[in-house]
Amino acid sequence: MTVLENKIVTARKLHRCDFCHSIIKVGEQYNYCSIVGCDGLYHFKSHLDCTEYAKRIAPSFDGISEDDFQNQVQEDVEIYSIEKNTIHSMVKEIISIKESKECT
Ligand SMILES: [Zn+2]
Repeated sequence: MTVLENKIVTARKLHRCDFCHSIIKVGEQYNYCSIVGCDGLYHFKSHLDCTEYAKRIAPSFDGISEDDFQNQVQEDVEIYSIEKNTIHSMVKEIISIKESKECT
């Protein structure tokens, strides 16, 4: 698997985040990745929060599938006893909890 391009772009139309499956709104910044895998070229779009979270799970983009992502979210939701919400909201909350812990 090779990452051809990995950049932050602004959405000009609605997209769906490939990690959490929530909507990426028009005008919102998101992470756009062009990847060549076994099945050819594909594009991976994700919220900046979800991308940040994925990087925390696996420092290289390669290792993480959306299943890994969502399993990790479920695990962190248990650990930090976060209220059930959309995955994207829970991800944002987990990141802010983790960041506040790193500072102390
Ligand atoms: Zn997302």
